[in-house]
Amino acid sequence: MGCRARAPKPELVRVVVAGAQCVPDLRGRLQGRGAYVHGDPACIELAERRRAFPRALRVPGPLDATPVRALVAQQQSGQQQRGQQQPGQQETAQQEHDRHQAAGSQNVPAAPAAGSPVREQVEKR
Ligand SMILES: [Zn+2]
Repeated sequence: MGCRARAPKPELVRVVVAGAQCVPDLRGRLQGRGAYVHGDPACIELAERRRAFPRALRVPGPLDATPVRALVAQQQSGQQQRGQQQPGQQETAQQEHDRHQAAGSQNVPAAPAAGSPVREQVEKR
């Protein structure tokens, strides 16, 4: 469905009708006619545009595929988070760095003001 490309079954999401929506059937246990789509947001969108959901699920009305799209988007963002642990650590180091700078900047304006007149006096002598 959708792009019509073949995919191994683990990459496919089973979709069933629930009222005016089509919802993902993660465990493959919901009753009724099911359709399979790729776990790919672009593919879900394509299927929606082509009205492939009502056709594949043999219902007359338009179907809202928002739950399916939300699931797929969630799955994809989860995969990205698992693969990007290093940027997260860098972000923490950056925050720490910012904190040190903020703490340092409070002392910096006071130090030259107190120090420079003394130094000038020393140079004049
Ligand atoms: Zn596809």
